[in-house]
Amino acid sequence: MAVRKITEYPEKVLAEVGKPVTEFDEELEKLCADMFETMYDAEGVGLAAQQIGLALRLFVMDCEGIKLVAANPEIIAIEGEQSNPEGCLSVGKVPAVVVRAEKATLRAQNEKGEWFEREADGYAARAFQHETDHCNGKLFIDHLPKMRREMVVKRFQKEKNWK
Ligand SMILES: [Zn+2]
Repeated sequence: MAVRKITEYPEKVLAEVGKPVTEFDEELEKLCADMFETMYDAEGVGLAAQQIGLALRLFVMDCEGIKLVAANPEIIAIEGEQSNPEGCLSVGKVPAVVVRAEKATLRAQNEKGEWFEREADGYAARAFQHETDHCNGKLFIDHLPKMRREMVVKRFQKEKNWK
């Protein structure tokens, strides 16, 4: 297992729509193990393949007791609305309030290729939506009005230069 380098905005891969995962083999298991390790190392609750430079429809997450690998993820049902601060490891965890569905049902394949459905609400539902977006080449800042989006990017760049 290894901690991989996390890609950061505006690296191109973050805007790429992921290719479907088709091989559920040892290589995928190793990749998922690396993704979990990278996510824990960065103290995140979710990590998509795009965030380690791979345009794939794949994410891992461990949020509010929901730990899973999601290959070829889809949000198949949503309900309600929540407005909460959200951040992203690829945008320096700079927080911004994003409107999301309060409840979301995820349909995906695990690392063995078995399909599953999982329902969540609150923070975990937000993670489902945030990570599935990554697999579609979309970042949380893409949900923000232009001015707020620019503010987040500016703050991220400023903090990066301080490091
Ligand atoms: Zn993210």
